[in-house]
Amino acid sequence: MALINCKECGHEVSDAAKVCPNCGAPVIRDVFCPKCGTKVPEDTKFCPVCGEKIVPLSDESCEQGITKDKVVAGLLAIFLGGLGIHYFYLGKTTAGLITILLSLCSCGFWYIIIFVQGIVMLTMQEDVFYERYVDNDRTFPLF
Ligand SMILES: [Zn+2]
Ligand SMILES: [Zn+2]
Repeated sequence: MALINCKECGHEVSDAAKVCPNCGAPVIRDVFCPKCGTKVPEDTKFCPVCGEKIVPLSDESCEQGITKDKVVAGLLAIFLGGLGIHYFYLGKTTAGLITILLSLCSCGFWYIIIFVQGIVMLTMQEDVFYERYVDNDRTFPLF
């Protein structure tokens, strides 16, 4: 957290604040052009120096957290479930290997379990999916 000056009244405000407590104007942070490094206000669309598109800070941080797609994982589970591909995709290598073993040992019965799991993945909320299959230390998250 840092102090920046309000563009409207010059009052020092925290860069975490949405509006200036002094004059009520929206607080505009400075960002750096990804191409040439020029400092530009956050609400600028294109860099005045090189014309590069300026990405607001908030948009960037939103996208960073999402690296695994539940639709991709769900479809992999449905179509290639017995091979454990969706677990490898989710970074759960051990679970993937266990799935392959179970598929071989269960004569295909395990495919049905994973098929159901794929459907559950597709229908569940994004954040629930993350909690259950991505953002945890469980070796073999099934349902
Ligand atoms: Zn102000
Ligand atoms: Zn630039």
